[in-house]
Amino acid sequence: MSITVVGSIAFDAVQTPFGVRERMLGGAATHFALAASFFDHVRIVGPVGDDFGDEELAVLQTRGSSTEDVERVAGGRTFFWKGKYGWDLGTRETLDTQLGVFESFTPKLSERTRASEVLFLANIQPGLQLDVRAQCADAQFVALDSMNLWIDIARDQLLQVISQVDCLILNDEELRQLTGKPNLLSAAREILTSGPSIVVAKQGEHGAALITADEFFALPAYPLETVIDPTGAGDTFAGGFVGYIARHLASGLSTDVLRGAMAYGTALASFNVEGFGTERVTAVSPEAVAERVAELWQFTRFEHVVVELVGNPQR
Ligand code: AMP
Repeated sequence: MSITVVGSIAFDAVQTPFGVRERMLGGAATHFALAASFFDHVRIVGPVGDDFGDEELAVLQTRGSSTEDVERVAGGRTFFWKGKYGWDLGTRETLDTQLGVFESFTPKLSERTRASEVLFLANIQPGLQLDVRAQCADAQFVALDSMNLWIDIARDQLLQVISQVDCLILNDEELRQLTGKPNLLSAAREILTSGPSIVVAKQGEHGAALITADEFFALPAYPLETVIDPTGAGDTFAGGFVGYIARHLASGLSTDVLRGAMAYGTALASFNVEGFGTERVTAVSPEAVAERVAELWQFTRFEHVVVELVGNPQR
């Protein structure tokens, strides 16, 4: 089994209340691959410029991920994103986005990368997502992420590619923006009529909610007192979620598998926010990830809630 991911591979400049980084490895595909590589072989698709060094390439290759389809464009500049977070890290402002080599990128996937059973269309122009979706026609499970920018400027293409995937993973507010529905559940249900059978709404520090035709499952974020840099948390969550599904795909997408995927996505995202950029997830051990998943289940176990019929005896 392998997982193909297309999305931004980037240099990020980030300001948080805890520090500033002028240039660090980032990008949606990067964060996704670092998390998904705990579960399966990941194949990364995307262009980089000649400002992208071997050191950065080595990070992409963490836990054996393949960079065979990472194209180095001579004379080109790697995608660049600059963002600034508010004091409680709850708000983020994009200060700059430079598509660089993504502007003229036409994906040409190798045979092996097209043959992956699982495909993740990470955040990038919906036109590119459509192109890669067409090249991976035989994928058994396809998930997609996007963002407000593409809802604003490429909505029709985005809706077209969403209709061709099994699972949509989007920020809560972007899900509402995309559907024009102010209510999360009705927004998710609208998406469920358009192609995907699974919707995941990411809710930042409040966790994530999974919605299918017959299930609603919400998981809080792993409780942390210190959050350093939330950049890439959503993509890391998606890497854990999709990676876990890839690992269990052969046995079918049961409730247990979907809940497990939510827990691994949540645990991995919690490591991501404990450091700047890719530094924490690159280094963390599988044992530490499993320990956090076990703790998460402990925090959220509901077996001891007693169900009783309540009523006021005076009335
Ligand atoms: P997240 O914090 O999970 O939403 O993802 C942040 C990552 O998304 C950063 O590493 C950025 O490089 C990348 N990113 C920001 N804007 C865009 C965009 N317009 N298209 C693709 N990737 C982006």
